[in-house]
Amino acid sequence: MAKINVNYRKLSAGYLFPEIGRRMRLFQQKYPGKKIHRLGIGNTTEPLTPAVVSALREAVDKLSDAATYTGYGDEQGNEDLRRALALFYSRRGISLDLNEIFISDGAKPDAGNIQSIFGIDNRVAVQDPAYPVYVDTNVIAGRSGYYNPGVGNYDGFVYMICNRDNNFIPDPPVEDVDLVYLCSPNNPTGAVANHLELQKFVNYAREHRSILIFDAAYAEYISDPDLPRSIYEIEGAKECAIEINSFSKLAGFTGVRLGWSVVPEELVVEDSAPGEVNRLWFRRQTTFFNGASNIAQRGGLAVLSEKGRKECAALIDYYMENARLIGEALDTLGLNYYGGVNAPYLWLETPQKMPSWDFFDKLLYEAQVVGTPGSGFGPSGEGYFRLSAFGHRPDIEEAIKSMLNRLKL
Ligand SMILES: *Cc1c(COP(=O)(O)O)cnc(C)c1O
Repeated sequence: MAKINVNYRKLSAGYLFPEIGRRMRLFQQKYPGKKIHRLGIGNTTEPLTPAVVSALREAVDKLSDAATYTGYGDEQGNEDLRRALALFYSRRGISLDLNEIFISDGAKPDAGNIQSIFGIDNRVAVQDPAYPVYVDTNVIAGRSGYYNPGVGNYDGFVYMICNRDNNFIPDPPVEDVDLVYLCSPNNPTGAVANHLELQKFVNYAREHRSILIFDAAYAEYISDPDLPRSIYEIEGAKECAIEINSFSKLAGFTGVRLGWSVVPEELVVEDSAPGEVNRLWFRRQTTFFNGASNIAQRGGLAVLSEKGRKECAALIDYYMENARLIGEALDTLGLNYYGGVNAPYLWLETPQKMPSWDFFDKLLYEAQVVGTPGSGFGPSGEGYFRLSAFGHRPDIEEAIKSMLNRLKL
């Protein structure tokens, strides 16, 4: 008799986004025709840039001609693209071999799949709050105990609490932990770890022979030149850190699908030979995955070209101007918030410690603005609320106006 993977039953009921949808429909039934302003999405809205669009068109043209058609590409990803990524890192003083870079169809799949090359008895630490992929994929793999509905956490994981006392950047765990997930700039809090804070994690990982899984999907949103944009800017990180990154937020590739991960040759765990972890990821990817779309990879090359980098920087500036405008409005409203300076998310403290979902309803019913309740990202998100800077400027401006005019604080 076939059996399911019962770990799926341990997952908390995918509550956040369905619940947001349910509450929005309820509102719309009560007030049909009333416009809802969305500041909740973590999805890009602005078109691909000209350099990227022409590269994608060219790639399609090549596929339409037998003389230039290509099928499956290089196993680890297009070599020119990996070379361009190596150059991208070398501009930050980081030197990588091409075989340390793996092209993929996105950072979410990589962040989810990377755990599969590590033993099932590894102990996992996550930031709380966190992007849900790190937690859920380890639950499915069987590294957790049961979900505690009252608390909103799983037995067996170590939660590194991020709150205003630590500026939303935690210290490394006191316990012995094997896999540590870090996201900086952070979704949902918008916090960015500095060199010293990341050095503490690298030191911890070297001491404990643990692995840092560093999600840098928002690295290019950092404008402060003193903040690290890659974990490999930290001394010793190549021994212990895997970096996951994406073209999604960098170049609006959320629908195009392209990402990469870096697994250094020097990376070692307790029972591995040097280079073995890199080879395991190669084995995993070539077994389960057949490469990113060649069209998308051609687009990625254009992103990393001089013209593409300028255009994408302007795209990011556009979203960060949205963030600045939202922040300005929150200041006017007297709402306390964090982030929004080197990351496209603003993490606001609900007034009078109002529960996140109550604030969701208040914002929806008073100002018709939808955001994301902080509690959806983990127990320490309770009392917080995420606003996203992704959106068309006129929509953002309307949402701001509505908040300023209607929100009763
Ligand atoms: C958006 C996002 C990603 C990007 O995932 P893709 O699969 O590349 O689109 C990765 N990590 C975090 C934290 C994100 O918010």
